[in-house]
Amino acid sequence: MDIASMTPDEIADIIGDKPYRGKQIFRWIHSRLAGSFDEMTDLPKPVREKLKMSHTIGSRIKKLRSVQSADQTTKYLFQLENNTIIESVYMSYRFGGSVCASTQAGCRMGCVFCASGKTGLERNLAPSEICGQVYAIQREKPRAGHVVLMGCGEPLDNYDGTVRFIKLVSDENGQRLSRRSITVSTCGLTPRIVNLADEMMPVTLAVSLHAPDDAVREFLMPVVRAFPMNGLLRACAYYSDKTGRQVTYEYTMIKGVNDSLSQARDLAALLRGTLSHVNLIRLNETDDLDLKTSSDETIRRFADTLNERGVKTTVRRVLGSGISAACGQLRNHHNKFNSG
Ligand code: SAH
Repeated sequence: MDIASMTPDEIADIIGDKPYRGKQIFRWIHSRLAGSFDEMTDLPKPVREKLKMSHTIGSRIKKLRSVQSADQTTKYLFQLENNTIIESVYMSYRFGGSVCASTQAGCRMGCVFCASGKTGLERNLAPSEICGQVYAIQREKPRAGHVVLMGCGEPLDNYDGTVRFIKLVSDENGQRLSRRSITVSTCGLTPRIVNLADEMMPVTLAVSLHAPDDAVREFLMPVVRAFPMNGLLRACAYYSDKTGRQVTYEYTMIKGVNDSLSQARDLAALLRGTLSHVNLIRLNETDDLDLKTSSDETIRRFADTLNERGVKTTVRRVLGSGISAACGQLRNHHNKFNSG
């Protein structure tokens, strides 16, 4: 069993020794980043031996490659057990470091512009494997105070893994990350947003909207056919009510598809008066994609139209250009050249 995916209370339960052992072992794994039970020198030897027989400390995470761009963004390619390949990114902002982590190897959502879904879903990542990305990066970078679940995968499609990751990484015996500094980005799995609201963990919810109406949205993100806009926005309002947090709407700007001023006005009408913030993203173009990004001028006018109508809108800074920073690009490239 993987002890690195367990909370202090769960560890205490399985040890059945002194109650404080749960916290002690959790601290070794999530604060001191121990990779083996032998490092846990303040544990009695018999306890260590018992643990060695029955438990592992997460899956071994091995760095295969890292690529750094001129703006200090570093992209990592990691290998997990059974040759599963994932990627993560470290970004440096004025407010400190941020890790963009993957929650799944691959993705089954199939958004037309996204490289992560091109080869489907391989598997969900264990909570310890999501933590492992943050910790592996922490070994060589300044501490990241923020984690965004915007790497490969759909966090709410790996709901249990994601919720458990949030508990582990924010635990007071581990990294003590503020839950407000954790962003869960979803393509909009409505029932799961309601579940997340009920967990009462005030993480930042980012919803990939990408269009002001169901028709364009379904073209870009086929899976959301099951979750129309009305219900999605109601779930987001519920999230705000429950947690007091504003919802971020991500909107990737695609030339001639979702970037007209009438679409900006429709979006403003949809979001006006809600506790929200729109983040416009330039489309990261890939070779096998017919879609093109909107121009800077179009993006600026789109943002102005929303801001003039009282919907707070920012344009995401482009980081990591030149290092295959779009989710899944590096992983796809690796798998293509290393299979068979
Ligand atoms: N599954 C989650 C996380 C995906 S990555 C989600 O759908 O939100 C985070 C954001 O990047 C999402 O808004 C996603 O739609 C967007 N994205 C994916 N590929 C992109 C690309 N090639 N260019 C710009 N944005 C992209």
